[in-house]
Amino acid sequence: MILISTSLPVPPPPPPASTYHCRLLSKTQRHRSRFLITSTMSTESPNGKNLNLIPKRIVICGGGVIGASTAYFLSSMSSPSSPPLHVTLIEKSSVACAASGKAGGFLALDWCDGGPLSSLARTSFHLHRSLAEKLHGSESYGYRPLETLSLSINKSSSGAGSSSSTTKTGARKGLVPPWIDGLAENVKKIGSFETTAQVHPQLFTRRMVSAAVANGNVEVVIGEVVDVMMDGDRAVGVSLRKKDKGENEMKVISLDADVVVLALGPWSSRNRLVSSVFALSACKAHSIVLRPSKPEAITPQALFLSYTCSRSSRTLDPEVYPRPSGEVYLCGMSKNDEVPDNPDEIVGEPESIAMLHEIAGTVSSHLKTAEILAEQACFLPCTDDGLPVIGEIPGASCCYVATGHNCWGILNGPATGKALAELILNGTSITDDLAPFSPARFIKDR
Ligand SMILES: Cc1cc2nc3c(=O)[nH]c(=O)nc-3n(C[C@H](O)[C@H](O)[C@H](O)COP(=O)(O)OP(=O)(O)OC[C@H]3O[C@@H](n4cnc5c(N)ncnc54)[C@H](O)[C@@H]3O)c2cc1C
Repeated sequence: MILISTSLPVPPPPPPASTYHCRLLSKTQRHRSRFLITSTMSTESPNGKNLNLIPKRIVICGGGVIGASTAYFLSSMSSPSSPPLHVTLIEKSSVACAASGKAGGFLALDWCDGGPLSSLARTSFHLHRSLAEKLHGSESYGYRPLETLSLSINKSSSGAGSSSSTTKTGARKGLVPPWIDGLAENVKKIGSFETTAQVHPQLFTRRMVSAAVANGNVEVVIGEVVDVMMDGDRAVGVSLRKKDKGENEMKVISLDADVVVLALGPWSSRNRLVSSVFALSACKAHSIVLRPSKPEAITPQALFLSYTCSRSSRTLDPEVYPRPSGEVYLCGMSKNDEVPDNPDEIVGEPESIAMLHEIAGTVSSHLKTAEILAEQACFLPCTDDGLPVIGEIPGASCCYVATGHNCWGILNGPATGKALAELILNGTSITDDLAPFSPARFIKDR
């Protein structure tokens, strides 16, 4: 028997796509900063800003898509008239080792419309396009626009590639590409080449970091952030556990900073400053990556499935993303769970992985026989109101948090990073209004 604690919600076709907002969740959950004054001399930059108030040393904790995007935009925004900026990105394991490396990488322009995320998502969708041009995203991280379909598959009917398998609604309309040879029903187009796109999330995140490092003012440190160092109510650095070059022993060292950014994904709640302001839960979701023997047969259509299992009447909502590399990524099977200390120790549950293989084989005979490249799991960071948290932590000046991006972190990473970089460097964000995402909203609720 397959143990599935929770299924993914069905994307109710057709859009309003805002309903997909929490597509991977078991249930819908639903400033100016005071900078460290590093000099007592008052000087002004040509644009009239007090240079003493501009942070010079910024530490970003967490090398997922949010930390990487923040590092990239901070490094791109420093100008010759500003004091030199130095950014240190601290990552416990490796850049994009967690959800930011194992996500689908699906991007949608308008699926968050009608809610507080609408503007951030739209801005970020467009930023993805301009970043892809600048960073050669098509070649370096698999950026491409693609079509998106929703469809129902019933396992108890015929399987993929069998003689009786046919596609009903949709096939007649020419919507179903030939590689989907399982019994597909209720096929609808829910995204076009203009409104949906994809990236390979791990390659994208790593490209953002390498571009930031190439800008000359960002370094990556592999180490575990232990705590934020405070001077009264102001963050003044972090302590971290790391190995020195050539040493076997871990040492705890401190790193001074004018600004600290906590972008620790689901691990953010382990920080006392964060947990004193808001709660963050972790939702575990599974994925597999397959390489079909005839990758040229797989056309660029993302699939949002409503899948009825053979052994129960249960309906699951997996997602299928063919990638330009010829690989096909499938994800689903989510449930709330405790996130382990070590990101490298996250493994998928066999029943969930087996179910994803069953789904793959039912959708397409190309996937049934495909080579298995990965079977994995990762955690979505989820807040109680389903919205990200981006801004300075109340009661901890110069300490910013950016987390809770739920099932849209890859989409919203660039706009989050750009807006946060502006907030840190200029005291306000012009890229997007961050007010709906302020951590202060949790204080007001008390
Ligand atoms: C199966 C699945 C599919 C998804 N598909 C999509 C999708 O198609 N589109 C989309 O937009 N979003 C998608 N998402 C959501 C997206 O992956 C997340 O919202 C996003 O990756 C969160 O990024 P993050 O940087 O906040 O966290 P993470 O990626 O979790 O990064 C946090 C980092 O912090 C590090 N860290 C933890 N503790 C410490 C410490 N003490 N010191 C130093 N470093 C530390 C970790 O090692 C990790 O690298 C998906 C998620 C899942 C699980």
